Amino acid sequence: MKTVLRFFVLIAACISGATVDARNFQTVVIDAGHGGQDNGGAWGQVYEKHLALDTAARLESNLKRMGYKTVMLRRDDYFLTLPQRVCMSNRYKNAIFVSIHYNYTWKQQISGVETFYYSSEGQRLAQCVQSSLVGRTRTMDRNAKFARYYVLRNSTLPAILVEGGFVTNASERNLMKSGGFREAIARGVAEGIQRYRHSY
Ligand SMILES: [Zn+2]
Repeated sequence: MKTVLRFFVLIAACISGATVDARNFQTVVIDAGHGGQDNGGAWGQVYEKHLALDTAARLESNLKRMGYKTVMLRRDDYFLTLPQRVCMSNRYKNAIFVSIHYNYTWKQQISGVETFYYSSEGQRLAQCVQSSLVGRTRTMDRNAKFARYYVLRNSTLPAILVEGGFVTNASERNLMKSGGFREAIARGVAEGIQRYRHSY
């Protein structure tokens, strides 16, 4: 009975969702992609799940310094399902959702950063973040793009998914291994969020 009750409370929390006032958001929900048994893109010992978590923590520090409230969906190396990520983040009001990833492809020459969105509010956020990201990292601009990713499609918040370069590209992989580059990604995303807020 107790478990059943807890289940309904969780479902109710998810359904009630959040009305979004994009102009007035104070909270950034940060989703470090993958985790636990899900390494994400990997090359040798370089795992996307580790890069994403470190970048997410750096993003959190930058945002806090700028006066935002932050929520980290994972703070350690454990697995969360996509529905769990959506359900946890949709509980917040006056918030935006930012998922941090690194890219993987079989074509090793492909490089660059890109930001995905699903909703029109997400598009506005993605465009701000992508241009700041490119400015900070000086890497190839693969643009803000529409995508039907689960966490974007099911978010009630303005939502984006950032891909901070390709683990399959040798020179980007070397960059990613340095804290300085991951800091540049984090700072670019934080500055883009600030520009999005000021765009109203
Ligand atoms: Zn990923």
